[in-house]
Order: sequence, then structure tokens, then C-alpha cells
Amino acid sequence: MEGRKTIYLCLAHMSEEGWEQKYVKEAFDTNWVVPMGPNVNAFEKDLADFANSKTDGSEPLDRKVVCLSAGTAAVHLALLACGVGPGDEVIVQSFTFCASSHPITYCGAKPVFIGSEKETWNMDPDLLEKAIIDRKEKTGKYPKAIVPVALYGMPYQIDKIMAIADKYGIPVVEDAAEGMGSRFNGQVLGTFGKYGVLSFNGNKMITTSGGGALICRSAEDANEIMWYATQARDAYPYYQHSAIGYNYRMSNVCAGIGRGQMTVLNDHIAHHKHVQGLYEELLADVKGVTVNSQPKCRVESLEFSDSSKVESGEYDSNYWLCTMTLDPSVKVKGQENAYKEVIKTAVGGAAGVIHQVDSATTDCQPNDNVEAMRVFMLNKKVECRPVWKPMHKQPVYKDAPVYTNGVEEDIFKIGMCLPAGPYVTDEDVKYIVECIREAIV
Ligand SMILES: *Cc1c(COP(=O)(O)O)cnc(C)c1O
Repeated sequence: MEGRKTIYLCLAHMSEEGWEQKYVKEAFDTNWVVPMGPNVNAFEKDLADFANSKTDGSEPLDRKVVCLSAGTAAVHLALLACGVGPGDEVIVQSFTFCASSHPITYCGAKPVFIGSEKETWNMDPDLLEKAIIDRKEKTGKYPKAIVPVALYGMPYQIDKIMAIADKYGIPVVEDAAEGMGSRFNGQVLGTFGKYGVLSFNGNKMITTSGGGALICRSAEDANEIMWYATQARDAYPYYQHSAIGYNYRMSNVCAGIGRGQMTVLNDHIAHHKHVQGLYEELLADVKGVTVNSQPKCRVESLEFSDSSKVESGEYDSNYWLCTMTLDPSVKVKGQENAYKEVIKTAVGGAAGVIHQVDSATTDCQPNDNVEAMRVFMLNKKVECRPVWKPMHKQPVYKDAPVYTNGVEEDIFKIGMCLPAGPYVTDEDVKYIVECIREAIV
């Protein structure tokens, strides 16, 4: 323990050759220290090449990518471009980080939350269709967009989700912020829907320090997004505006970091998958602990509204974070003290300001043994975190409609994220698993 460094969930990791600094230096040397420029253009091209690649031997796609200041901004602009406005409803996965749903409210619209299925922990296609039909009955209108989320990188059942979205003519905004490089049937997540969101925050698969991008279907769509991202100016010699725009374009300095990171993206993905494999192997015989793994290939024939058919069901998760569940019957050391103290600092080194609270508990929280495991691991210098708390259980969304079978609420009580980034070595995983064993009474 003495001198042991904390093993964090997922840390930014630069290329050994230092490409990031070279591209950043280039931005300074050429005086492109602005929110556009050669690094932004080149990063967009690299991202598009990556997103367009297929692993099933078929022809590459032809998607365009627009770099933005954050993944949250990408969600926001995608919704605007889908025509989401005041009085509209947008369907979104409940089991997610708040950046999937908050931009719906930025548009003056209302989120409708959808529960998860057990296979992938993502949007349940059956509940999705139920909600679409029910919202139409209750409000007279169909929701304006559908936002599935690749939780911890796990692909959602995009074949089924697209078939339903197609049937009702509702655009899909894929939140692949955590799923960069995850694939379904050999195709990169974010390229199935009308728009696909990527994030380059410090803890994501690759980083630009902070940043995001939107994958678009066509050059026209990409242009529209770029227009909104640069204050929506019309072509006059002076500033003329016919719409409300945003200052959401990516900085040329950040894009330099992103270009460098593209040289290690495939290594990062391979490493995350390797770490997942180790957890699966080493935790296999620990009773009450289940590592969450992607579903085995589900071959199924799906028919779309344009009567095209696909054979479908191959999952390929990037395993951005590895996750496990802890059976409620498992006793963990220190469990009797779980939630006894009000938390004074942000759990997991979260950035920014956190409001103080006066209670140690809420009406929906991880089980005592999960909280005890988190604290035990932290004392062993291993950062573990609860899984995302479902959005429909957040006080800020208490009045939002929700369609759920309770799957995500159940997982929230028993789930836990394990370290998975490029800095996590095989030795680290062995140590983490030893600590988990030690924690169990
Ligand atoms: C990280 C993340 C985003 C985007 O976040 P930014 O920090 O704004 O880049 C969106 N959705 C999910 C699910 C995320 O995890």
C-alpha cells in the first residue's frame, strides 16, 4: 500500500511520440490559435475516416464529422437540427450521464425517459415503441427525436431501434460519447442514426482536453451544424443573423491534441478490451460478483420500412469502462457503516463545483454493500464508482414521463464501474481483483 499510486477509472493518455504537442505547437507556430483552422480540418478528416471504416469487409461509409467544443454541445446542436423546440418531446435513455438529456431542456423541450433492457443495459426497444405510441395518444404528437446511449461503450440494439424509428419517421441522435469505436455489425456507433455524438473529454476514449464532435449523414447536414456552431451568420459583409446560433466550434489548439490522439485510438480500444477480458477471467470464480459483458452474437432477421432486410446482432463494445454487479447477498467489510457520513467532496474527483448536501442518503441509491465496496477500494487506492443514476430518478426530472420495467433502477443498486483506461496494467487488474476478494467477508 505504501507508495502505491491511485488507480483511476480512466485517465487521459498521450501518444509516446508526443504527436499531440507537435500539432499544438504547429497551431502556435502558424498562429492558428482560434476556434477553426488546419488542425480542426485534419482532425475532422481523421475522425470521418475512422467512423466510415467497416470491419465486415464491406465498402466504407461516407459520413461527415464536425468538431465542437463539447459532446454536450454536439447533443444540443443535433437536437436543434432535428427541429426540436419549445413544446416538443424527445425520447432519451434514462440510464445515462446528464449530458444526454440536459440539452433537450436547453431547446425548451421535454425529455421522455426510456428504461433499459438487461442484455446491453441500454434503451429497451419494446419500451421505446410503447412510449412512441403512448406519447402520440397523450399529446397528439410524436416525439421529435430518439436518443439512445452507448452506456460505458456498450452498443445499444441499434438494429431494432432504427427499425422502430424508421417506422414512425423519427430521427435518431446516437449518444456514442462513451462508445467511440464500439461497433454493431462491424459499423461504428454514431453512424447509424441521423446524427452521432462523440466526446473528447479528459476521461473519454480519447481526449482533446475537452471537446466533442457530431457525425453527420451528409455535407449539407454538416454545414448546417457548422453554421449553428459559429453563431449562425448570413452572408453579408456585416453581422446579420436569421437564427440563434452558438459558439460551439472546437479550438484549433484542442484539435491538435485530438489529431495526436487519433494515432493511439486503436491501441486504446484494444487495451480497454484486454482489461475487460482480464476482469472476466479473474473475477469468474468470485461468488456474487458478475462482470458485465456484451451479449453474444444475436443473429436475427429484421425488416425495415423500406423493406430492406438485415441479418443482425454482432456486438463489439470498446469497454470504455468495465462494470460489475454485486449480488445483494454478498457481505462487504464495513457495510454497516455505509452512508453514515455526509459526503464532503466529489466522489471520483469530479470537476467543478459540487453543492453541499445535508443528508447522506437519497430514496434511490446503490446498496450498502456496493457503497462499502467503493469505500474499501478507495482505501486500497482504487477508484471505483457507482454506475450512472437513472435520469428519471433525478430530482431535476421528477415530473418527466418515464417508460420502464425497472431494469436500470435495479442495476443502479448493484452496479459498479471498475478502472479500465490505458494506464491500467495487467498487474493493476490483478491487484484490483485481489482487493475485491479481500473486501468480501
Ligand atoms: C461524456 C458524455 C457526453 C458528452 O460530454 P462532454 O463532457 O460535454 O463532452 C454525453 N453523453 C454521455 C453519455 C457522456 O458520457
